[in-house]
Amino acid sequence: MSRFLEERYQKLTPYTPGEQPKVKDLIKLNTNESPYPPGPKTLAAVTDPDLAAGLRRYNDPEAGRLRDLLAARYGVSRENVYVSNGSDDILNFSFQAFGGDGVLFPAISYGFYQVFADLHQRDYVKVPLRADLTIDPRDYMDKGRLVVLANPNAPTGRTLSLPEIEEILRHNEDHVVLIDEAYVDFGGASSVPLTKEYPNLLVTMTFSKSRSLAGARLGFAIGDRGLIQDLERLKYATNPYNVNSLTQAAGAAALAEEDYYQANCRRIMKTRERTAAALKEMGFQVVPSQANFLFVRTDRMAGGDLYQALRDRKILVRHFDQEEIRDYNRITIGTDQEMDALIQAVGEILAGKEA
Ligand SMILES: *Cc1c(COP(=O)(O)O)cnc(C)c1O
Repeated sequence: MSRFLEERYQKLTPYTPGEQPKVKDLIKLNTNESPYPPGPKTLAAVTDPDLAAGLRRYNDPEAGRLRDLLAARYGVSRENVYVSNGSDDILNFSFQAFGGDGVLFPAISYGFYQVFADLHQRDYVKVPLRADLTIDPRDYMDKGRLVVLANPNAPTGRTLSLPEIEEILRHNEDHVVLIDEAYVDFGGASSVPLTKEYPNLLVTMTFSKSRSLAGARLGFAIGDRGLIQDLERLKYATNPYNVNSLTQAAGAAALAEEDYYQANCRRIMKTRERTAAALKEMGFQVVPSQANFLFVRTDRMAGGDLYQALRDRKILVRHFDQEEIRDYNRITIGTDQEMDALIQAVGEILAGKEA
């Protein structure tokens, strides 16, 4: 840190992204990426020579084509769609734009919420989960703040129902309710249809998890026209070209092969259920998940020890050193082969421990 940094940023604790190790033969189950590659149309789009030659030009700041395709896919209009450099970017703008009265989010959720609250110096309240790691919707009613909820939640994988979300919306007429649907394609129900009725609802989604494009950085939000205009306002005051032309092309192509990505999601869900059953068989408590990861614990071993033992066997999962969830590990669902390796390794680790 230099002595020039403004004092309020000196105290900021930035987000710690999951490790992206350089080691090749590692089984990487720590950042909820898709185990499957982008589809053939997506790959063809980003390797198109005309697109490469066009890089000398600025990209379309309105991302018109991509927004039209997203609008068609989700049954809304272009003016209801905002696209961004990853959905983290939308979360950032939302804390900045809508967090003036403070922010409310679960004590166990996506770690970036805390960082954005700090970055924008928002007064925040972190609400504990119930003992079964579900969210109690009543905790988010009439609190007079921006509400931010991941649905499915991370790292638990648990969901709120649409009637529960609707209750929260009804009880926050004067504040924005942001529903972060990064994992919605793995079995959750989307709140997007509610955006037509509730002008205070902003739904964010991403191409990073279900559409195999984490490195392309493409997120989007759907909501009332007014909310989208607010996000545009901040974007045009920050970086109008926030979604580069390669990423716009990749996103458009991905939407043209939704079947491919939906088939991958179904495969991942199947692998998830099979992995959950195998871990339960070994005595694990497995939190019911509608996401592409499992959140698991066992009385037979401390969470941090299991994390390390798996790491020693070149399997990387995610352990959070946070009091309430220290016993758990979050395991991204990989290919069937990768999960077989995980299940075998866990079995050997537990057997070795008790030998
Ligand atoms: C991965 C994730 C994001 C970030 O997605 P990007 O589009 O890659 O920025 C947002 N919210 C949650 C809950 C996530 O897990």
